[in-house]
Amino acid sequence: MIGVCILGATGSIGDSTLDVLARHPDDYRVVALTANAQVDKMITLCQRFKPDYAVMASAQAAELLEQQLKVSAIAATKVLSGVEGLERVAALPEVDYVMAAIVGAAGLTPTLAAARAGKRVLLANKEALVMSGRLFMDEVHRSGAELLPIDSEHNAIFQSMPVDFSRGLAETGVRRILLTASGGPFRTKTLDQLQNVTPEQAIAHPNWVMGRKISVDSASMMNKGLELIEACWLFDAKPEQVQVVVHPESMIHSMVEYVDGSVISQMGNPDMRIPIAHAMAWPQRMDSGDKGMNIFEVAQLNFEKPDQQRFPCLRLAREAIEAGGTSPAVLNAANEVAVDAFLDNRLPFLAIPKVIEQTLEQCTNRVADSLDVIFEEDKQARVLAAQFVSQLS
Ligand code: NAD
Ligand code: MG
Repeated sequence: MIGVCILGATGSIGDSTLDVLARHPDDYRVVALTANAQVDKMITLCQRFKPDYAVMASAQAAELLEQQLKVSAIAATKVLSGVEGLERVAALPEVDYVMAAIVGAAGLTPTLAAARAGKRVLLANKEALVMSGRLFMDEVHRSGAELLPIDSEHNAIFQSMPVDFSRGLAETGVRRILLTASGGPFRTKTLDQLQNVTPEQAIAHPNWVMGRKISVDSASMMNKGLELIEACWLFDAKPEQVQVVVHPESMIHSMVEYVDGSVISQMGNPDMRIPIAHAMAWPQRMDSGDKGMNIFEVAQLNFEKPDQQRFPCLRLAREAIEAGGTSPAVLNAANEVAVDAFLDNRLPFLAIPKVIEQTLEQCTNRVADSLDVIFEEDKQARVLAAQFVSQLS
């Protein structure tokens, strides 16, 4: 039995992961589940999956969970709390695979703990890699951890790459990566129309059901910006080797172009259970619960160039990875602050890239050679971004 820890078990990726695992009870055992504050949902999950550990981010939520579990006679589940609890379960000897599905910067240290412990890391938490790219990849190589991408695009790229791509893209005949983007809910809106869009409209993604933060990122196309950075680290690609392609049907999940002109892609329904099952079973295959795509219903596939005029976040992300150092961490922190403010109705949608650009201009770009430096810049960026939010709101 393979022992699994799910960081961020109560979220959208957490749901899909547990759905896949529940189909294979003889192969996988849920060792640990973690959540931020959703005690009720965690109780339900503990009843159903009987993990050895449940971790809540706050001590208060952990206390409440512990009481409730006792009442429901699920006392066998040990309750832990805080970042220490998250890092501890990510590195337990009985855990083989860690699903990293916490949203945002909060996921960095637990995901890194899993990498350091040499686990199979199923990476959904792209923000962790954006913040600490070099450091994270060094840990993976040092510990021998297996890093498998869950983000549908990166999972598709992984499936389309030559098996020995880690020798280098040029060495293995890869010319470039075509990173697909749905374009989000505002793909066809004019700049004028974008002025008054609401959080509710931003969250209503045409193809995918996801958490609130990533849904707003998809609407601003910062999600694709973060994914561009993610692709550079995962596949050791240069930013100019990654072409973003808007593909509104979300059936092709990305492509790899080889030096002979061949283009290999992975297709499938927009259902996160597919990349999750792929990464769990790799190098084998297993049922994900998806029924398969109806190619006649899909009928047409369209491709467009991204519009950086209406969606400047893509340009900002490209500039940040080109600048290197702590710039991607600053970009990520400013984005988290701006998205929070937008979701809270404190910032207009079009001000999101403005907050990020101004924050990037004010922060000094440092060499990102330690977690301390990365978190210092993350903190500094959050203070500055909050100031710009109050000026622009
Ligand atoms: P979500 O908001 O639905 O879930 C987030 C999870 O993280 C929840 O379990 C929550 O309790 C936990 N969490 C939040 N803040 C925390 C904190 N401070 N400390 C500890 N735990 C905390 O988000 P999601 O859509 O599941 O996305 C999770 C990650 O996966 C994100 O990084 C996202 O970019 C990535 N991702 C998601 C999808 C998708 O389809 N949902 C696709 C690709 C990548
Ligand atoms: Mg994605």
